[in-house]
Amino acid sequence: MSNEQMDSFDPFQQAKVEKDQMREARENGSKNNYGGGRTYEEFEYLGLNPDEKKVFRIVSNPVKLNGESLTEKDSRLVMTSQILTDEGKGMCHINWPWKIKNGKFIADPDWFLTRVMNTVFGGTWQPLTEKDVDGVKIVKAADGKIFNAQSKFKSTNKFVVNNPNTPSYKRLKNNKKPSGTFPVDVMPSPQVIMQVIDRMDNWSVVNKTYKILATKANVVEYPNPDGTIKKVVYKDTGISFSMYEKILDHFLNFRKDWYIDCVIKRYKSTSGWTFEIQDAQDFKKLSPEIQKVISEEPLTEEEKSYKFNDLSKLDQISTFNKIKKNLEKLIRQVDIDYNENFLAELETLCTTEKKKFEELYGKENVENGNVDMEEEVQEDVAVTAPVVEVKVEAKVEVPARASREVQAPVETNLEAELVKYFPNWSKLDATDVKVMLADVDKIVPDKGIVYKSGVVTIPCDNKDCVFPGTTIRASFPDKVYNCACCGKKF
Ligand SMILES: [Zn+2]
Repeated sequence: MSNEQMDSFDPFQQAKVEKDQMREARENGSKNNYGGGRTYEEFEYLGLNPDEKKVFRIVSNPVKLNGESLTEKDSRLVMTSQILTDEGKGMCHINWPWKIKNGKFIADPDWFLTRVMNTVFGGTWQPLTEKDVDGVKIVKAADGKIFNAQSKFKSTNKFVVNNPNTPSYKRLKNNKKPSGTFPVDVMPSPQVIMQVIDRMDNWSVVNKTYKILATKANVVEYPNPDGTIKKVVYKDTGISFSMYEKILDHFLNFRKDWYIDCVIKRYKSTSGWTFEIQDAQDFKKLSPEIQKVISEEPLTEEEKSYKFNDLSKLDQISTFNKIKKNLEKLIRQVDIDYNENFLAELETLCTTEKKKFEELYGKENVENGNVDMEEEVQEDVAVTAPVVEVKVEAKVEVPARASREVQAPVETNLEAELVKYFPNWSKLDATDVKVMLADVDKIVPDKGIVYKSGVVTIPCDNKDCVFPGTTIRASFPDKVYNCACCGKKF
């Protein structure tokens, strides 16, 4: 077990059990706390942007679904969605309280906003008729049976919304930001927020803080009328729960935890968005650039000392005051369209909530806005075309992995080259280093290390051990006792 695993109980074993059982209906009471604000620029993200291989180390524990209290090290599960605000200038992030039902995460059906949405999207299942047949999705069999050929169980029914012609239904079906092309679902999906060290830049090294892993994170620059540039960061809350499950599966297939570096590339396949995952043990299959930065070593003391981000700011259930501030007109419209009384209920909930905040944080702090009950919504400024989309990453110089581990100052060019070249140079003791510096002639791409004439070398004990970027069995002077390639002791 790796060093960073300090708790006596095994969170991975637990995650496996929870994943496998997943999933008797259980409510996670500890998640359903209210309050607090979200500040958008507070966190640094590693975005799994399309077609880019990202190398990182997960430092968070898995999510807990058993209601146990959370620590800063635990990944968080949030049910989240984005809804266009009344003003129509930005998307309002809503975190929903959730439950597990039949192995799926669902929005708490008793929560205010869930009931509003269920009213708008309510309907009944009705039998398919001749009118529905399109020959592709809905087909008619020889025996006259009409069914949905694309549904798993060849359903003969369709869901018919009670009233799809109301303004509120239309608004919610066309839920997209002003610059958006496609509407997004107003109902939430499960996302996992976990923290990582990005191996592709040295942000964590410099800032002594972990990053947050997200499906997407892009900085977009827009021109201001005065000629200056406005930067907006667009990012997802975290990664989808299904991606989280696949990552967990990947690691638990061959080890007890996920504490080695992993490589993920997200891409669009013919069947939709997918991703491939590799890890530090696939070393030989990785490109030289990735080999340089990837590690299967336990975290260094330095890396262990980095700060975890305060995820409680990201996983709190959205406040009623936030809902009212951004969606009051929508709620009013739902009342009109469906003859309900939701807005009055929301106002009562807001008053109660405000009192609770005042008790918790002091009346003054609530009045003067020190405690943010409403959470600022980031306006979508993409009404005009962006100047440029900047990748969040790739701004900082990529350090070679070995150079992060080496302790002695690098003195010669040869040593600097060897430090960069060997993935496990740090395993060498002082004598090994001295012998290597004396005996190595040069590094030849495709051939590995060429030693000076007369040097007696012995291949590494590990028969799979090759010089980086080659298929040549690694060999070392007979006075060297540790393998700089695979790290094995001779
Ligand atoms: Zn070796």
